[in-house]
This record gives sequence, structure tokens and C-alpha cells, in this order.
Amino acid sequence: MAQPIVVSKAVRKAVAEEGLSAFSTQEIYRELLSRFGEDPARDGLVATPSRVEKAMSFLTKGYDQDPAEILRGALFAVDYDEMVIVKDIEMFSLCEHHMLPFFGKVHVAYIPKGKVIGLSKIPRLVEVFARRLQVQERLTRQIADAIQDAIEPQGVGVVIEARHLCMMMRGIEKQHSSTVTSAMVGCFRQKETRAEFLSLVRQPGPGGL
Ligand SMILES: [Zn+2]
Repeated sequence: MAQPIVVSKAVRKAVAEEGLSAFSTQEIYRELLSRFGEDPARDGLVATPSRVEKAMSFLTKGYDQDPAEILRGALFAVDYDEMVIVKDIEMFSLCEHHMLPFFGKVHVAYIPKGKVIGLSKIPRLVEVFARRLQVQERLTRQIADAIQDAIEPQGVGVVIEARHLCMMMRGIEKQHSSTVTSAMVGCFRQKETRAEFLSLVRQPGPGGL
């Protein structure tokens, strides 16, 4: 049976000498498994460090992506100045305090001023920021700011409704409560525009979605 490559004592010695960077990500996860009280060499766990490494690199791939780059090439000149709204965008992220998931729905709206963003790019933009360690408030704000910077519309509104496993699993939050955050820029700070956005968010979509 494979032995754990790293044991605590060896890690402590090596870390003192050369720092944690001497170890691969998988070795560090293997060490963590031992510290949780597990046997990293047992069947079910042998491949876990490599699976966790892959999963975490997927869940944090947003660090390598540039939101401006994603929007570039998807901006179109238009003569339209009504509210554009993309709602119920699925979002999965990791909270930066516990590295546990929070997930929910993002609703994005803006009122153009000469330019619009290709509709499929809005969920991509959400994804770039969600695939990083986040707090919900900052995620909300970053989405709004990226749209504002890209097309300088009359205004942008972003609302996120999410549930946080770090709260639910630790019993801090009731199982069915969710956290709502919003970022309103430009004309979305006006009462009527904001109210129109929020009422559109609450309306069921086509097919009752
Ligand atoms: Zn948390």
C-alpha cells in the first residue's frame, strides 16, 4: 500500500528549511488529509489529492481570465435605450473566509448609451468573477463595474441571491434563508429605475421560469 509522501514531521522540517513551495499541491493535500485524522493511503483517498487539485484549479480559474478580454469583440453599437436584463444566471463560487461554496442566482440589467454587450457574454462575465475566492458583496460590485467600464451605459444594476454553505453547514443560517446583495450604478440609483429592475427580476420568465 502506498504510504503518504509527506508526514507532519517531515513537512515541518522541510518547511523550516525551504518553505512550503518545496511541496507539490498534491503533497500538501495529502498532508492535510493526515491532519484531519485520515489515512491518505486508504483506497478511497489515494487519488483524492489529485482530484482536489483539479477541482480547485477549475473552481479558481477566474484568476487567469480577464473580464475586459471576454467582453472585447462582443460589444455592439445600437440605437436602443431601454433596459436590457439577463436574469436567473446560475452562479457557483467559493467564500474566501472558509473556501466553502456559496451559490445562487445573479440578475444583471443595464440601460445602454450607444453600446450593448452580446447577451451570452454576461453569464461568462459572472463566471470569471465567481471562479475566484469571493465575498458576495464584492462579486456583485465587480460584475457591475466590469459592465460599466466596458460600455459606459446610463446605468447598471446587479442583484445576487445566494446561499452560503459555510453558514448552512455550521448551523449559523436557517436552511432556506438566502443572502441578497445589490450594486446599483448610474441611473439605477434612481428610485424608479431600480424599482423597474427589481420588479422584472421578480416576474416569472417565459414558460414560468
Ligand atoms: Zn464563509
